[in-house]
Amino acid sequence: MRTIKYLALIALSLTAAHAQAQTNPAAELLREIIRIDTSNPPGNEGAVAEFLRPRFEALGFEVSVIETPAAGKAHFIARLRGDGSKRPILLAAHADVVGVERDLWTEEPFGGDIVDGYVYGRGAIDFKGGLAVFAEAVMRLARNDVPLARDVIFLAEADEEGGAYGTGWLARNHWPLIDAEFSLNEGGWIIKRRNSDDVRYVSISTADKFMLSLRITASGHSIHSSMPRPDNAIFALARALSKLSEYDGGVQLIPITRQFFETLALTAEEPEKTWFEDLVAGTDAARAAQADRQIGVDPLLRAFTRNTIAPVILEAGFRINVIPGTASALVNFRLIPGTDVAAFIEEIRRVTADPAISVEILTNDSQEAALASLQERSRQLPSPEDTELYQALAASAREQYPEALVTSYLFQAGTDAGAWRNRGVPVYGIYPYPIDQDDLSRMHGNDERVPVQSLAEGTEMIYRVLVDVAGRGP
Ligand SMILES: [Zn+2]
Repeated sequence: MRTIKYLALIALSLTAAHAQAQTNPAAELLREIIRIDTSNPPGNEGAVAEFLRPRFEALGFEVSVIETPAAGKAHFIARLRGDGSKRPILLAAHADVVGVERDLWTEEPFGGDIVDGYVYGRGAIDFKGGLAVFAEAVMRLARNDVPLARDVIFLAEADEEGGAYGTGWLARNHWPLIDAEFSLNEGGWIIKRRNSDDVRYVSISTADKFMLSLRITASGHSIHSSMPRPDNAIFALARALSKLSEYDGGVQLIPITRQFFETLALTAEEPEKTWFEDLVAGTDAARAAQADRQIGVDPLLRAFTRNTIAPVILEAGFRINVIPGTASALVNFRLIPGTDVAAFIEEIRRVTADPAISVEILTNDSQEAALASLQERSRQLPSPEDTELYQALAASAREQYPEALVTSYLFQAGTDAGAWRNRGVPVYGIYPYPIDQDDLSRMHGNDERVPVQSLAEGTEMIYRVLVDVAGRGP
């Protein structure tokens, strides 16, 4: 009798374990997508599209696979029809990933293995994890036959990590397929407390920093290297870069970064708490400067607070016995929205001031056209927080993580969200799974991973948002 009861218990617990695996289909989907190597270049995102196609078609989605001019590179679009009484919602996730330094990984980067409760693999966080969560949440709408007031569009994109056929190209050529009232994308974070599964804060990005690249060129005299002259282009460039390395435009907080640092202050422990408070207050210059120095040790936090400067490519010289006539540095700047780009470039000219130095925007357009489009990009406002989608996402995050604070966020790099924001469509960014600083540091690095449990939580959170925003209601 006892034995039978015991066996019954084992059978029950086996069923429970099985059910657990069954209730985390996002993790299973992620593992399969990691196994499709979409390192970009070349990307090969068409393989992900063909993998997804039968899964979505079986659930009644209208599927379009948009081939690009590059072989093997395609966008995947799946639409679940609503009654049309509201405009569509779109969930976008890039299917490409950055490459790997295989030798530095301990796990197989394209194996999708689960080790100690984590799915490992390139893209686990950025952004195949998000792709799997978004895909699973929208497929669950179909499986559960949720009556919809609006179309729900799922997009798996190509060329986010580089290349010519990303969402900009897609929007120019196939806008009606991806037009929506608002959209979800990658961006903000669900950050856990140190050594804990408790979530500290949920940040939802409503804007991205934008990129300016300048070519700084020094001109000198081309001559045999046995007879150097004072007007040496390489020395002049080195002096200009040296001045630039010491230049710092200082802290600039905009409303969304202010809100973000206020949230950090409320959820941090000392001494960080005081630093965040001092930085936001900005009233005591010495304390604010001290706070800025301390906070700026973290390159991510430093990036939120200012326009960043990074020389990335040097071009000078061609042989050992010739002093070249010119030397150039390509410098990449990431600017806070609202920056006056013309004034910023003038400031860089002032900092590097030297008759031998010229500064120009790196562009295939004319300087005037490039400047005009950068100024327009800078004026792009953050997506508003009073939309149904932002409110639903914030509410769903609070429901899932009652102990956490929710804040808007400025994404420190660029995303492919510009294709929608440029056209006035609000985009909200989130990596929809709780992670900690260790997990975060592996993004674009080695042994990238995401907790299995976090994928299940993220799917719940996004599913609730979709039911709330797209469902017809009771
Ligand atoms: Zn990404």
